[in-house]
Amino acid sequence: MSREGLLVVVSGPSGAGKGTVINLLKQKDDNVKLSVSATTRQPRIGEIEGVNYFFKTHDQFNDMIKGNQLVEWVKYCDNFYGTPKKYIQDTVEKGYDCILEIEVEGALNIKENYPDCVSIFILPPSFKELKRRIEGRGTEQSDVICKRLEKARKEIEFADRYDYVIVNDSVENAVVGISNILAAEKLKFTRNKGILKTLES
Ligand code: 5GP
Repeated sequence: MSREGLLVVVSGPSGAGKGTVINLLKQKDDNVKLSVSATTRQPRIGEIEGVNYFFKTHDQFNDMIKGNQLVEWVKYCDNFYGTPKKYIQDTVEKGYDCILEIEVEGALNIKENYPDCVSIFILPPSFKELKRRIEGRGTEQSDVICKRLEKARKEIEFADRYDYVIVNDSVENAVVGISNILAAEKLKFTRNKGILKTLES
């Protein structure tokens, strides 16, 4: 039975390890594709245009909004981030599971517009560990680190609005958790409405 892939929203504070978890999931599961967002943030060292983000000027980002090319967009820590519409639509239509790694405001917008989506919140094992990870990354200035930690506390308050929660104390365990969620979601009766008819054939 051919069917659409899942639209999967993954959030969690900066430093929770979402990126690492999703990259490993992608390596392990060929059916998983990651949506690449547009942002006005400057690229970090090692980030690649079209792989990590589509890096845009403010004018270019505004043109995307005006052209109705984004399914959602937000301002986060002084930069704009948005999810391009066409890629996620094409990806799920082809049967792939499409992961959106986005912050909470965007995730809640997606949930409203795509009630069928699956939402997962990734938590760090503790705030102490979160701080260690953000500082250890060494990619942000200290004022940005403070902003991100403050933002993290606020974001975690929204964790209960998600369908599932995963504590990222080990990347491998977190990936197993997400794989299990995707497998269970695909077996939901509501996603297999035609199944009884196939018994007659
Ligand atoms: P970072 O600057 O660390 O790459 O991302 C900052 C935050 O923006 C992260 O929580 C990330 O998940 C979120 N983010 C990335 N792309 C998007 C997007 O397209 N939409 C929304 N709403 N958030 C995004």
